Amino acid sequence: MLIFGYFHRSRLLYGLPAFIDQKSKIERVDNLMVFNIKRLLKLTNRTNSERLKIALGLPDLFTFLVQRLIKLKVKYEYVFEEKLTLYDKSIKNILDIENISSVRIGYNYLYNKLKLLGTKEGLNINQGFIQRLKHRIYSWYVNSDFILLKFMCHRGSIREDIYEKCILCKNADNGIKHVINECEKLKIERNILLGELNEINNTKYEELLKAIEYHYYSKRYSNTKAEAKKDNKGIKLIKEFLLTMYKKLGAENNKRDDE
Ligand SMILES: [Zn+2]
Repeated sequence: MLIFGYFHRSRLLYGLPAFIDQKSKIERVDNLMVFNIKRLLKLTNRTNSERLKIALGLPDLFTFLVQRLIKLKVKYEYVFEEKLTLYDKSIKNILDIENISSVRIGYNYLYNKLKLLGTKEGLNINQGFIQRLKHRIYSWYVNSDFILLKFMCHRGSIREDIYEKCILCKNADNGIKHVINECEKLKIERNILLGELNEINNTKYEELLKAIEYHYYSKRYSNTKAEAKKDNKGIKLIKEFLLTMYKKLGAENNKRDDE
């Protein structure tokens, strides 16, 4: 994501805000951007784009462009001491508002967009998510981050549209909910992680999937050292669990291929 930030976003945001009213073209750039992120992160092109965008805290390109445009407008007006009205219409169209002189747009706007996207996927996204994402979850992208992202995008042998029956226990309907919450073959690991996450987050989730999603999306951001330590520990434990899960799935898959 650092590579994306340096090479893609910096260039995209440089001149593109001026063309924000060309909706279909911006959408094309947006799709291309998601395509490139998938390639950078070694995720297949079939990965659900909405889920990926939510997991990475990148709602859509318009969100960033309109933020940038308003910042430029404010800066221009401050430096040159004259009103810049050239882009007012475009901004009004995107934000769907009448009076733009009072617009204060920032962190909350990004958060609201993400929250809306999350609701469609049944996820409750907390305001601290974006901050935690920056500081705790993918600060430096390593292989275990790939596993975490893969899981957050519901990729791999847990997909019911590819494998009808669970690969691990072979007698239940497949799906993320079954593998994470119910499958007998992960019982020990699941109970350990569920207990630890409940303790870290001070929650009483009975289902592991809910506990993981809470830790990833809904946990509040805290600046205290003790909280940061707990937060990092939780993410580390989730990654370890997912690594074990995907390893087991991979081993079963290889067995099937050999038979
Ligand atoms: Zn199973």
